[in-house]
Amino acid sequence: MMKYENILSTCPYCGFGCNIYHQVFDDELIGVLPCKSDIVSQGKICIKGWNAHEFVYSKDRLTKPLVKHNGSFDEVSWDEAINITVKKFIEYKETCDPDSIGVLSSAKCTNEENYLIMKFVRAVLGTNNIDNCVRLCHSPTIVGLFRSFGSGAITNSIVELENSDCILVTGSNTTEQNPLVASYIMRGKEKGKRLIVVDPRKTPLTKFADFHLIQKPGTDVAWINGFINVIINDGLEDRKFIEDRTEGFNELLKTVKKYTPAYVETITGIPAEDLISAARLYAKADNASIVYSTGITQHTTGIDNVRSLANLAMLTGNVGRPNTGIYPLSGQVNIQGACDVGALPNFYSGYQSVSEEKIRAKFELAWKTKLPTKPGLSAVEMINDYPTATKGNIKMMYIMGANPVLSHPDINRVKEMLNNLEFLVVQDIFLTETAQLADVVLPAASYAEKNGTFTSLDRRIQMVRKAIEPIGECRTDWKIICELARRMGSKEFDYSSPTDIMNEISSLTPIYGGITYDRLEKNGVQWPCPSKKHPGTPDLHKDGFSNGRGKFVALEFKKPAELPDKNYPLILTTGKIMFHSHTGTMTRKTELLNREVPTGYVEINPEDAKKIGISDGELVSIQSRRGEIKINTLVTRTTPKGVIFIPFHFSECAANILTNPAFDPSAKIPEFKICAVRIKKIE
Ligand code: SF4
Repeated sequence: MMKYENILSTCPYCGFGCNIYHQVFDDELIGVLPCKSDIVSQGKICIKGWNAHEFVYSKDRLTKPLVKHNGSFDEVSWDEAINITVKKFIEYKETCDPDSIGVLSSAKCTNEENYLIMKFVRAVLGTNNIDNCVRLCHSPTIVGLFRSFGSGAITNSIVELENSDCILVTGSNTTEQNPLVASYIMRGKEKGKRLIVVDPRKTPLTKFADFHLIQKPGTDVAWINGFINVIINDGLEDRKFIEDRTEGFNELLKTVKKYTPAYVETITGIPAEDLISAARLYAKADNASIVYSTGITQHTTGIDNVRSLANLAMLTGNVGRPNTGIYPLSGQVNIQGACDVGALPNFYSGYQSVSEEKIRAKFELAWKTKLPTKPGLSAVEMINDYPTATKGNIKMMYIMGANPVLSHPDINRVKEMLNNLEFLVVQDIFLTETAQLADVVLPAASYAEKNGTFTSLDRRIQMVRKAIEPIGECRTDWKIICELARRMGSKEFDYSSPTDIMNEISSLTPIYGGITYDRLEKNGVQWPCPSKKHPGTPDLHKDGFSNGRGKFVALEFKKPAELPDKNYPLILTTGKIMFHSHTGTMTRKTELLNREVPTGYVEINPEDAKKIGISDGELVSIQSRRGEIKINTLVTRTTPKGVIFIPFHFSECAANILTNPAFDPSAKIPEFKICAVRIKKIE
């Protein structure tokens, strides 16, 4: 008897976290359907979501463990692969130093898997060297919003955007990166709400904007200080909010005095009159919101940029009320969850500091072991800064579901670092560019082959449900981690299912304290949810900031680390496009998405193209101080004069060969958004 089922789950691509139905026919995943009863996506999904089943059966899926012998991979048994890996873990832990091991976790894996790997790293390996790809996109959000508001997460729920009277979108090509978030902004426009876009490039949203302020890349602190200057000059600040709920306003006041619209124009290129009008529009709105993404964060001043936006929101009292707030948009599906459950070098789950003795003692008691005291290295320190600032200590790496060979800046250096490791084990669903460099490859199950949870960008914890059995000999990441831990002698990884793991997470993590799977059945729950009776929290900071008072900070504009000069006269900026996700690991295994955009391209303004003597579609060479790629041109006015744009998904023309590894000193995020390049015609 044939069997057809629709199994409710969550899309594996962007942080919006649309609910989807997996169509399963006779134990085979045959398609995806949207879910009308999902209160967030409301029965809509984007093109990636519609095709989220296809890569699962790709012929390129890893199905057996691999071990490299003399430069090529041989298929081996699980037993052999695990034995080799465990032997190496023990060797480096005992004969070198636990801190010689570095581990990367995955925003594509579930909360339960991210929690388990961070527990494994801390409790079994004995190091805090664990990080995830938030380092490359939203670490300034975690640090910056935490310093300003006491919580490093989105303040409100995405569904509120359509009722915000004015939405300021900056550093986010929302329509391409988080299409369903853009649909909420467009609903607002249909209701007559106002839209300001501040971005060096034209994006699909700029067509609908009341103002599109075209800034020079990397001048965010300057234009935001300019907005603040105008608002204070016009007396449009919310004095009551400032007095009742914040501190540090007087220092801000002194600093922004010099950021007059005329002065800001000299730095940013934004016409003074436009800046004044847009600032007034934002400040006069009853409820205003700020939406941003990596255009704000991927800078050496990433934290300053985020905190400047927090200044602007507090100045106008647009925090802690419905339909206001700050919306950082994450690209990968479970970046929020990976951070929430502690896949970070300085925090256990729930952003509980590894440096605080009382907190460490709580985890030591629960996990029945001593834990390391020193915060670990960030992903960028493990890989890009090797072997300088961190003394080249990393000798072995364990990488789960991450692909630094494409996602980190200065790829030539990343490859050199990974090749120099004494041992590399990669756990993934495909033989990624990073897995190709590994000594051992462990084949993992995809999102459709396991149970667990993802947490969406608006803090909503949602179910991921198994639709089919793991392909070939693949195993779920959580089972692989448990096996590694058990073989290393730990008795603390005896879980029978992800439910057990979530129960442990909620027992140790106050913001997830009330989370149980039965509560997530319908539409999930938004954290903080401290107890079983707590309904969850759509809006943060209603009755006060988590750190008492909101903290204004006075910030001066600082230049990016690398600017154009006569040898490298253009600015390269990188980003994502609608049809692909991150390093393309899954989307490039999807026929329809590849049909739409089969390879990378460089966007160049017609005036620059004419000056260099190149035409649309021509193959050109792009060079930076770090490397060279060959890529086809797309001549377009989308990108302003002096700036070129390359989507970073494509290994054959990898933008990150060119990008600058300079990073924000505190958030440790690289400056992906600006580096100096030149274009050469290929004769
Ligand atoms: Fe929804 Fe994002 Fe998935 Fe598209 S990629 S279906 S917007 S979760």
